Amino acid sequence: MVARLRFGLVLLALGIALAAAGCGAGRTGTAAGERIPVVATTGMVADLVRNIGGERVAVTALMGPGVDPHLFKPTEGDVARLQQARIIFYNGLHLEGRMGDILVKMAREKPTVAVAERIPEERLLITEDGVEDPHIWFDVSLWMAAAEVVRDALAELDPDGQSTYEQNARAYLDELAELDEWVRAELATVPAARRVLVTAHDAFGYFGRAYDVEVAGLQGISTAAEYGLADLERTIDLLVGRQIKAVFIESSVPRSAIEALVAGAAARGHAVTIGGELFSDAMGAEGTPEGTYVGMIRHNVRTIADALR
Ligand SMILES: [Zn+2]
Repeated sequence: MVARLRFGLVLLALGIALAAAGCGAGRTGTAAGERIPVVATTGMVADLVRNIGGERVAVTALMGPGVDPHLFKPTEGDVARLQQARIIFYNGLHLEGRMGDILVKMAREKPTVAVAERIPEERLLITEDGVEDPHIWFDVSLWMAAAEVVRDALAELDPDGQSTYEQNARAYLDELAELDEWVRAELATVPAARRVLVTAHDAFGYFGRAYDVEVAGLQGISTAAEYGLADLERTIDLLVGRQIKAVFIESSVPRSAIEALVAGAAARGHAVTIGGELFSDAMGAEGTPEGTYVGMIRHNVRTIADALR
């Protein structure tokens, strides 16, 4: 009883101390010293903003590990976060297919920036149905263009931070240029005929184009469309016909589709293994290497190269 009371008093004292610290910060800190609240949709976009905004921003990602952006619907809490932000970054090209209305609404109130906005039309992949492929982060050079959009939008919102954003962007662009080279070199170790990437959905179109990898997805570029028996048959034909060794699951897509491919190929006498898990539309867990954009790309490329080599 006494112990519990004492514990309660400690908590109370701690509460007062924290409140006092809060007041102190309020007195001494200027508005410019506070971090700018930023909301980003995907983990990849959030990581980009953190790299360029550095200490000047406090970034919240709406979508955590394993969350599929094509299907993501913001909760009331997410809407509140969007309302509290001073600037919002999203991927664009309809990746966030179910956030269209809220993003339009937010754009009337505050800078709401699609990081894909400056990619020239001729560099975008368009599907047979005339839909733009939103998965630009898989071509590192396109993600570098996205980095420049973030840099300029932050500098416009917060001119005092312009030199910081420019400096951070320069350093990060150097890192991305290095990553781009590394991806190219790593994939070049896989014989060209074996460079075929089969996944559940078509997230890797830009990756394939940039790094000379043939790609095939069971579903289209959005997971919102179901795959049918014809898609399954077509993909199994490819696996058997080309004697492809491995297929890959995606962290944000149920693995059942890929398991159906493995079973279908086995039924036709061709053994396909699951080459590993790729981070396609969401990054890995926070605090792990795959919880950053650079780490996610490195993981994917190593997994692909190891399984297909
Ligand atoms: Zn996708």
